[in-house]
Amino acid sequence: MNIQQIDRQYVAGTYNRFPVTIVSGRGSLLTDENGREYIDMGTGIAVNSFGVADAAWQAAVTAQLGRVQHTSNLYYTEPCARLAQMLCTRTGMRRVFFSNSGAEANECAIKAARKWAAENKGPEYSTIVTLRNSFHGRTLTTLAATGQDHYHELFQPLTPGFVHVAAGDAGELAAAFSRYKVAGVLIECIQGEGGVLPLDPEYARALARIVRENNAVLMVDEVQTGNGRTGRLYGYMHYGLEPDVVSTAKGLGGGLPLGATLLGERLQNVFGFGDHGSTFGGNPVCCAGAISILERIDDALLESVRSKGEFVRAALAGAPGIESVAGMGLMLGVKTVRPASEVVAECMRRGVLCLTAKDKVRLLPADLLEKAVAVIREAARP
Ligand SMILES: *Cc1c(COP(=O)(O)O)cnc(C)c1O
Repeated sequence: MNIQQIDRQYVAGTYNRFPVTIVSGRGSLLTDENGREYIDMGTGIAVNSFGVADAAWQAAVTAQLGRVQHTSNLYYTEPCARLAQMLCTRTGMRRVFFSNSGAEANECAIKAARKWAAENKGPEYSTIVTLRNSFHGRTLTTLAATGQDHYHELFQPLTPGFVHVAAGDAGELAAAFSRYKVAGVLIECIQGEGGVLPLDPEYARALARIVRENNAVLMVDEVQTGNGRTGRLYGYMHYGLEPDVVSTAKGLGGGLPLGATLLGERLQNVFGFGDHGSTFGGNPVCCAGAISILERIDDALLESVRSKGEFVRAALAGAPGIESVAGMGLMLGVKTVRPASEVVAECMRRGVLCLTAKDKVRLLPADLLEKAVAVIREAARP
């Protein structure tokens, strides 16, 4: 059996994989088992922001591997402490809880909001409001947070205490606050899996105001939009929001599993000893790699993300077969006349790997944009 046959027989059938077996890569080029090269427009779903085999990240990771690979959270390690310090310095947040994935980062955000509300408003204030069409993860609690019914089927009962309101409808949010005892509101600034849909800025301001007026917790899920992907360090910075909690993962670890939940001033002391934990969270190898990622996401890099994004947008918008391009920075959703899955399959035949999000071709690239965009234009042609 070849690798794809073995995988299909022995790996749980949750992934409808493309028929490509990746063996190596460099930068934005991936090489398959037959030596064919592909341009990578997905970066492992917004993870490998500096491409594959990035030298600085590799050096940081291997240096830490040579010292100690894991200690448990019973002891201090330098990479964990320094990364938390960097994240707080860069955002104005006060403390960080480290985990291993986006779903776990959101679980921590939800626990923080519920505990803070229980202590500051009363234990009945447990409801978490999220937006319809959102995506917050695959655990039973983050599925409950995810505002898409089709993910919920056959996994009932999900964690109770979640309510979904329409993105863009401040009236429905205000009504949820009258109807339920709300602990907090969790949002994505750009719904990623939901189709690369940025929140309307005016709605985001109204939402933040309603959360404040009700003394609730504002949580922003920056798992996909975070760590420079949209042209700012975090997506909420485009909107002038001041979240109480920020969850992130994906691009933070540069390819190793790392989640982070940042707690702002109001919630900085919400957790005490034993309230939350993780065996691997804050792993020194993952954190050492993340430091090398984060220290390179400076103003010049963010500017280049914005200008690269503008280049892709300008090159695709108005091309034959392309209806619209949405998103920010290098998180873009391209609406095509042909079904997105057909365009993605055609791109793959032509050596470019893209993603989909709902009815759109989703691009989360790092580099080699000129070549890739030319291929996408050809593939989208009706
Ligand atoms: C990917 C994603 C998650 C889940 O992250 P995992 O690491 O797969 O658990 C949560 N929220 C958003 C917005 C995401 O894009």
